[in-house]
Amino acid sequence: MLGNLGKNLTKTMKKLAGMTIIDEEVVKEVIKDIQRALIQSDVNIKLVLNLSKTIEDRALNEEPPKGVTAKEHVIKIVYDELVNLLGEKAEEVEIEKKPYKILFVGLQGSGKTTSIGKMARYLQKKGFNPAIICTDTWRPAAYEQLRQLTENLNLPLYGDPDNKDALDLARKGLKEFKKQDLIIVDTAGRHKEEKDLLDEMEQISAVVEPDEVMLVIDGTIGQQAREQALAFSQTTKIGSIVITKLDGSAKGGGALSAVAEIGAPIKFIGTGERIEDLEVFDPERFISRLLG
Ligand code: GDP
Repeated sequence: MLGNLGKNLTKTMKKLAGMTIIDEEVVKEVIKDIQRALIQSDVNIKLVLNLSKTIEDRALNEEPPKGVTAKEHVIKIVYDELVNLLGEKAEEVEIEKKPYKILFVGLQGSGKTTSIGKMARYLQKKGFNPAIICTDTWRPAAYEQLRQLTENLNLPLYGDPDNKDALDLARKGLKEFKKQDLIIVDTAGRHKEEKDLLDEMEQISAVVEPDEVMLVIDGTIGQQAREQALAFSQTTKIGSIVITKLDGSAKGGGALSAVAEIGAPIKFIGTGERIEDLEVFDPERFISRLLG
């Protein structure tokens, strides 16, 4: 995952670890390497410059804590600031009340339906019995995809391919599942106009009154992720984000960092097409893995 970014950053960190003296020149060189690696992975230039400045300020001005060498301290600063770039760690999925309602939103093709399947499986393994409501009236295949998925997992599904009223579907589904512990609501990812889609999300959100809204974003779209996330966050309060397709893509750094900037934490990442290919996202673990 993010193959090149990992390789380049690891190389830089090794170079830093091999230095005998840490002076301004070394710090600046290391920062240049990091900048290059991040920009190649499509991280926004402004974010890269902010990060560089913070690393430089801290590395040149902060006294290392007792017992820590200057070199170890700079390594730690770089590590900390890369973690910061990815935002806060999301809370675990906590089912505080029943039914706990999760609303999934995202554009068509982002991997929303696949992620719902992964999420349902994840929650099922945790001992929940998530029920799914399909309100996507635009893509007939969405219902069929969910039907197969819920059949395989043996989970309840509410949907009606003949009903073209998304709000009515949401209401009926909620009524049917009011005794369940957990409900996942799938929504459309396309409309004639983007504005209609966003309006529908606002209305569905008002009907469902979700405990958590998860936004699904395609990790291969790079920095555009930010605009997409902002557009959705104007319709409903985004609680957390799922970034998909981070397998194979060398440029996922763009989406990861762009989304962290909007304020909602990244909770999961999709790392493949199979139902198990979902990882809980932890910025710290992610960076330490990236740096080998
Ligand atoms: P939706 O329109 O947002 O519901 O998108 P789908 O769930 O139907 O996914 C669109 C395509 O992306 C499908 O071919 C999925 O198999 C694929 N996909 C979804 N998540 C991932 C992922 O994490 N990695 C990869 N490689 N493909 C994914």
